[in-house]
Parts: sequence; C-alpha cells; structure tokens
Amino acid sequence: MNDSAKPSAARQGGCLCGAVRYEISSDPEMTGVCYCTSCRRLSGSGHAFHALLPESALVFTGQVSTYEWTADSGGRVSSSFCPVCGSPLFGKSTAMPGVVTLRVASLDDPAPIKPQMAVYAKRLLPWDHLDPALPAFPEMPPAPAAG
Ligand SMILES: [Zn+2]
Ligand SMILES: [Zn+2]
Repeated sequence: MNDSAKPSAARQGGCLCGAVRYEISSDPEMTGVCYCTSCRRLSGSGHAFHALLPESALVFTGQVSTYEWTADSGGRVSSSFCPVCGSPLFGKSTAMPGVVTLRVASLDDPAPIKPQMAVYAKRLLPWDHLDPALPAFPEMPPAPAAG
C-alpha cells in the first residue's frame, strides 16, 4: 500500500549466504574509501568502502562473528562478519564510541551511496584506483573540531 514506508534496497543489506541480514534506519553520517592494510585484507581487494552510522541505526538479524585487533593509533578496532560465508558487514572502533562502520558493499543496492573522502591513500596499490575528485588523506584525516 504505502511504498514509501518500505525500506529500500539502499537501506537493507546482508552477507553472501543470507544468514545475516540488516537494515539501517538513517543515512550515513560520513562515508569514505580506505586503502589501509587492514581494509585490504578484510575486503580481499585494494580498499574498503565504509559508511559511518550511529550504532542504534543498524539492526541486524542472524549471528555475526567479531574479530578485534589494535589499530596503528593504539585504539581497538573490530570487524564483524558472517561466520558461515565470511562476508564483512560492519566494524567498530574505540576511537568512535557509539558509531558503526558499515561495509557499504554489503548493501543490497550500494549504488546511491557515494564516497566523500579517501583515507590511507599512501597505501594505494598500483593496480587500484583512487578517484582524483575525492579529497584524499595520506592516513586518517585530522580529527574534526569538537562541537
Ligand atoms: Zn553469510
Ligand atoms: Zn582501513
């Protein structure tokens, strides 16, 4: 009846096998592609595409496994993935409490979400691509001013 109340494919996502599904209830606060070594390994590609959301905006069904490690910054970061098929779904960082880092490519329709910046651009691999129109930072961007 009311199509506008139905979450669009841009707001729903999940893993390859379908054991984990999720829905996001808000648009990303910030998006970016990351070329760091961790993102390379966890994505199986040259970079990962992340969207930052309030933790409360992500509701998932199914079971995820979570791997936690210490980032270059000294903070703890984690990656949550489907334990059946291994698809990366989202991450968290002690540097950003209350925020989840959604792996944008896990959305059913990731096309409408555009990257706003590139980080760890110094790790760009010769065969990967970096959009010259994007603001690019060699590592993480400077922390935004508080308030
Ligand atoms: Zn799966
Ligand atoms: Zn990264």
